[in-house]
Amino acid sequence: DMTIASFDPELAEAMEAERRRQEDHIELIASENYASPRILEAQGSVLTNKYAEGYPGKRYYGGCEHVDEAERLAIERAKQLFGADYANVQPHSGSQANAAVYLALLKPGDTILGMSLDHGGHLTHGAKVNFSGRLFNAVQYGVCPDTGEIDYEQLERLAQEHKPQMIIGGFSAYSRVVDWQRMRDIADAVGAYLLVDMAHIAGLVAAGVYPSPVQIADVTTTTTHKTLRGPRGGLILARANAEVEKKLNSLVFPGTQGGPLMHAIAGKAVAFKEAMEPEFKTYQQQVIDNARALAKGLVERGYKVVSGGTDNHLFLMDLVDKGLTGKAADAALGKAHITVNKNTVPNDPQSPFVTSGLRIGTPAITTRGFKEAECEALAGWIADVLDDIENEDVIARVREQVSEVCRRLPVYPQD
Ligand code: PLP
Repeated sequence: DMTIASFDPELAEAMEAERRRQEDHIELIASENYASPRILEAQGSVLTNKYAEGYPGKRYYGGCEHVDEAERLAIERAKQLFGADYANVQPHSGSQANAAVYLALLKPGDTILGMSLDHGGHLTHGAKVNFSGRLFNAVQYGVCPDTGEIDYEQLERLAQEHKPQMIIGGFSAYSRVVDWQRMRDIADAVGAYLLVDMAHIAGLVAAGVYPSPVQIADVTTTTTHKTLRGPRGGLILARANAEVEKKLNSLVFPGTQGGPLMHAIAGKAVAFKEAMEPEFKTYQQQVIDNARALAKGLVERGYKVVSGGTDNHLFLMDLVDKGLTGKAADAALGKAHITVNKNTVPNDPQSPFVTSGLRIGTPAITTRGFKEAECEALAGWIADVLDDIENEDVIARVREQVSEVCRRLPVYPQD
């Protein structure tokens, strides 16, 4: 009984149920995607067995010659894909990548200036509950409430006032193009490092359909599992600077991590190769076209979209004027097999657990083959459910429509 199914039926059942859920629900969580079978293969491989503390050619363990090759491939591909001079493929996650960068370039107690969580930033950009807000003096910028766009004047004012050692660009919930150069100029004026965390948009950047921060920021971090569609993990990139590179390497290992996950690094190598294929650019452009089609459909049905639309893979629905909470909207759509996440909107009157918004993203549905036509239909279904969230007949009808499109466009086609 070498299979999970024969050895551990309880767990096998949960895993199979999750596989089916992914097949028969419409996945609109903006940070999720479906990794290719090749990436799943890498992650299920015997590379999981190998300890390889250190870096290729400079390990603390024997027997690393083959995983060295895998890591070198991942590093070279990451540099080529993003036009970076330096890449570290070892961070276990996006949060770990950010931790290593902060500890490489800052001292505890230094001031960091990042986007606040409730305006679209990430926990690791200085939120109080996170290590970034506990170890550092975190000052936070946000968006203009009327336009929903980053308030660069506020960012500049806060930079001048607080003289941060680092400014952090990047977001988890923002639908517009960020002016990286403007952030660079603000950082330069106060002598701060600029870190851009492009976790959400890395796939769009790799495909050239969203501006790259890589040669503008001192350091760029990302996850590898969102729009980039690789294995779960983190990545650090930098423009040429020998001193910074040395610090980054030593703050990933031994500074914040032990042995690298070689199976995940192999998965990253596959993902970077996939991202260099011409179809990847077509995919990423479709991700944006789909997000625009979905946002437009919802606006036409009378729903408010923060900033009025999107230039990337996601947007926020603002439900304040509908008298709906994000929590209730998320639950009603969930019953119709449409998976979203509740999200605060700028100046949200509700608590972060309830919220007045939804975050909607198209990376996953685009991977399974949704085009504008499916997105227009989907906008209608979402509006149908939200127009009357107690109406179980509507929810049941939409669930049937969802099921039909999911069967037609499988995630992992079975032969
Ligand atoms: N940075 C940004 C901008 C993110 O959106 C996320 C993920 O939610 C992370 C970092 C953290 O990545 P992870 O969940 O891999 O720690």
